[in-house]
Amino acid sequence: MFNRKDFISDYEWKAFRDASENFSTPNIFVNLRTIKNHFIQLKDSFPYALIYYAVKANPGVPVLRMLDQLGSNFDIASRYELDKVLSLGISADRVSYGNTIKKAQDVKYFYEKGVRMFATDSKEDLKNIAKYAPGSKVYVRILVENSSTADWPLSRKFGCHPDMAYDLLVQARNSGLTPYGISFHVGSQQRDIGSWNDAIAKTKYLFQSLEDEEDIRLSMINMGGGFPAQYIQPTNDLSDYASEITRYLQDDFGESIPTIILEPGRSLVGDSGILTSEVVLISRKNNTALQRWVFLDAGKFNGFIETLDESIKYPVITDKDGQGREGEVIIAGPTCDSADILYEDEKYKLPVDLKSGDKLYWLTTGAYTSTYASVAFNGFPPIKTYFITDEGVMDQDGNPAVPNA
Ligand SMILES: *Cc1c(COP(=O)(O)O)cnc(C)c1O
Repeated sequence: MFNRKDFISDYEWKAFRDASENFSTPNIFVNLRTIKNHFIQLKDSFPYALIYYAVKANPGVPVLRMLDQLGSNFDIASRYELDKVLSLGISADRVSYGNTIKKAQDVKYFYEKGVRMFATDSKEDLKNIAKYAPGSKVYVRILVENSSTADWPLSRKFGCHPDMAYDLLVQARNSGLTPYGISFHVGSQQRDIGSWNDAIAKTKYLFQSLEDEEDIRLSMINMGGGFPAQYIQPTNDLSDYASEITRYLQDDFGESIPTIILEPGRSLVGDSGILTSEVVLISRKNNTALQRWVFLDAGKFNGFIETLDESIKYPVITDKDGQGREGEVIIAGPTCDSADILYEDEKYKLPVDLKSGDKLYWLTTGAYTSTYASVAFNGFPPIKTYFITDEGVMDQDGNPAVPNA
């Protein structure tokens, strides 16, 4: 159904096959080289931007270590992510607390650890920041409309109306904080580049009105994530995103473009991963059914949460591709929950001679897979991630990985 070479080179495929040979499934193998290339490409595309990696996309220690060496900063959403990043020797001044939903005691914790940059979108949270992180830089996240063209929208729950953002930045100044800038997230896997145009225009309006009416000079725009990984649905190249978005910034801000922050997650790590699952069982629901049900050892609760509503459609390949006929399948996970179906509306086709024990290789599974896995639903342990590095295969904690199959 898919041509492997459209997604991954022979060289990377061989690296994956060699590294993953003796590991039991399900598992995810992440190639650090791919992440490095994507990071360099992003820097080249947005030479004027600071990069804050959204740690939640893939918090493996080998990933964090490498991005640290490449000069990335880190967008953090919880004290647990913070502890992990600091334990690697990354300093707190390279961290932003990007989650607008946080406890007062967490604000205090971040401040005590040295973090001085905080996102907010509400009065109560801002009060906590003023009290427990005095003098810090704050930026306000605005609501942007994105639900129809982003495959994994991040709307409604985060951000506030620009009018409220205005009030919050005045409140920030009046409570001794440093009003720093505006942030937005146009939705993850955003396929409409124009979404950034709308968000940047709203941002420009806020910069202008706060300066004119309150003498508050903001100096930063955090443009969030949203850049694509390579799934089934086509997207523009990153270079197209960069040239368009740069033009929007120039149109609105002319020569005086503020400090620009990007918070990539999916676009940096998505393409680097291959999730291997094994066919547990193939069945039909009646004697003449045309569709086969293919049950795997990985499912919604073990790597594939983003198949909710079939939102993210991963390319999949098998060792039997190209050898014979293919037929329509419904693909489901191993647990006793009928929500554990990956694809039913989207018509995936797999070889008709597929058998139990055969492997399915799911491409572009480096982002938002392992960390969403449940701890022990039906007793299944969380899917393990391994990292292909120049020093060999490593586990989640950066220790050498031991083959187990
Ligand atoms: C998840 C998240 C990101 C990363 O978004 P992607 O679309 O994966 O690049 C960036 N910023 C914030 C605040 C986030 O919550």
